[in-house]
Amino acid sequence: MAELDRPGGSPAVPSDWTYAPAPESRDVVHLRDRYGLFIGGEWLEPSETYETISPATEEPLAVIGQASVADVDRAVVAARTAFADGWSSLPGSERAKYLFRIARILQERAREFAVLESLNGGKPIKESRDVDLPLAAAHFFYYAGWADKLEYAFPNRRPRPVGVAGQIIPWNFPLLMLAWKIAPALACGNTVVLKPAETTPLTALLFCDVLRQAELPAGVVNIVTGDGRTGAALVEHDGVDKIAFTGSTDVGKAIQRRLAGSGKKLTLELGGKAANIVFDDCALDQAVEGIVNGIYFNQGHVCCAGSRLLAQESIYEPLVEKLKRRLETLRVGDPLDKNTDVGAINSAMQLEKIRELVESGREEGAEIYQPPCRLPEKGYWFAPTVFTNVAQSYRIAQEEIFGPVLSVLTFRTPEEAIEKANNSPYGLSAGVWTEKGSRILWMAQRLRAGVVWANTFNRFDPSSPFGGYKESGFGREGGLHGLEPYLRFDE
Ligand code: ADP
Repeated sequence: MAELDRPGGSPAVPSDWTYAPAPESRDVVHLRDRYGLFIGGEWLEPSETYETISPATEEPLAVIGQASVADVDRAVVAARTAFADGWSSLPGSERAKYLFRIARILQERAREFAVLESLNGGKPIKESRDVDLPLAAAHFFYYAGWADKLEYAFPNRRPRPVGVAGQIIPWNFPLLMLAWKIAPALACGNTVVLKPAETTPLTALLFCDVLRQAELPAGVVNIVTGDGRTGAALVEHDGVDKIAFTGSTDVGKAIQRRLAGSGKKLTLELGGKAANIVFDDCALDQAVEGIVNGIYFNQGHVCCAGSRLLAQESIYEPLVEKLKRRLETLRVGDPLDKNTDVGAINSAMQLEKIRELVESGREEGAEIYQPPCRLPEKGYWFAPTVFTNVAQSYRIAQEEIFGPVLSVLTFRTPEEAIEKANNSPYGLSAGVWTEKGSRILWMAQRLRAGVVWANTFNRFDPSSPFGGYKESGFGREGGLHGLEPYLRFDE
């Protein structure tokens, strides 16, 4: 190390130092060549199939079933039968045992699931390992705890299960969204037909193995893979009592129209365009970390991503300067490398959407900054991007990009910050950075967002309800609130 020491000064670190590759081994994952549909505890052959790939390399990973209307019907019948055959009348303490078992198995097999999640979805392994898996297990643990306490949670209201829950989930947090949906449904005594997103079915299919290991009765959870057609068949099936949907606002609206007047219960968790509001009295370096985490975490494929940075004018320049410098240190590349910060974009289609919106930002007059970074040739990639000089009317300030792209706007007063933050058709989340507790409360009361984080961002806990206002949807997932959509009451 001697040659690195500068006489009388700090150690000189060569500027071209790079990280050695630190890939997580894929050996822990045993993929099958093809997967059927998991219905009634059995693997059924689908009539149609498609291939799922790794977005980082475009290599095919497995052949997946495209469930037809008839397949969805089989799954709903299996779920209805399991509901009537004992699951719905099982004592809560017995249902809890299955949920605890599932949680523990997920913990034991966490590495296998994390590697598969990164392989199929493109997210960095450090995120699937440190966020997706622990939180998915935590959801099962948390709702296991509620299963025998529903009477206490809703006193004098005689809570009962709804019946069969049809659940449709997106590709950004495949296993975590599955946990958010399945854990409360089972805790309340419902049975489930779940459809994973078409680009990321593999962890949901591996989860079927966990269900068998936990000896969950056949038909209590059924997994049908396929694209939007499979989702639509599930929404339209008369044997489904409740639909829980997480995905785009357009599809959410279509589902709401389809279900109007049907009597089916519905929860929608849709898009977002969160404002991350930074006041000049905040801890600036901490705020920069929060901004980076808010928009570049999971490549920005996060419905509650802090995609609009509202910077107080008095700190705009140092903030943007620090942010740009921090961006230069982000490592973009192989999702399975333990040093990777930003992984692959989930699909060619999503990459196209990001490119189109970024182009609109340039054309409308915003200034773009991307740190120098070498993107792999194969696969779907997009460099972390910051837009400055953004007007509120620009598409990049209005529309959800769902990619690693931040739009920076400014404000002078707290009132102006509120006005700009709420100037959005969405209302899922927001962030406030300031050292004043009173200002945090003042802001939180006025922000039209389901979640307001203060001096942190993208922080989740199963006991904390999550959900939106306006075009971000309705209904809450997580916490006590997350039980209600899966219950009927005598009222
Ligand atoms: P994204 O833009 O995030 O891909 P989508 O809303 O298209 O969001 O997808 C979220 C989920 O909804 C996926 O599982 C997808 O297959 C499903 N889906 C897409 N179209 C429909 C539809 N018409 N009805 C029900 N589900 C759908």
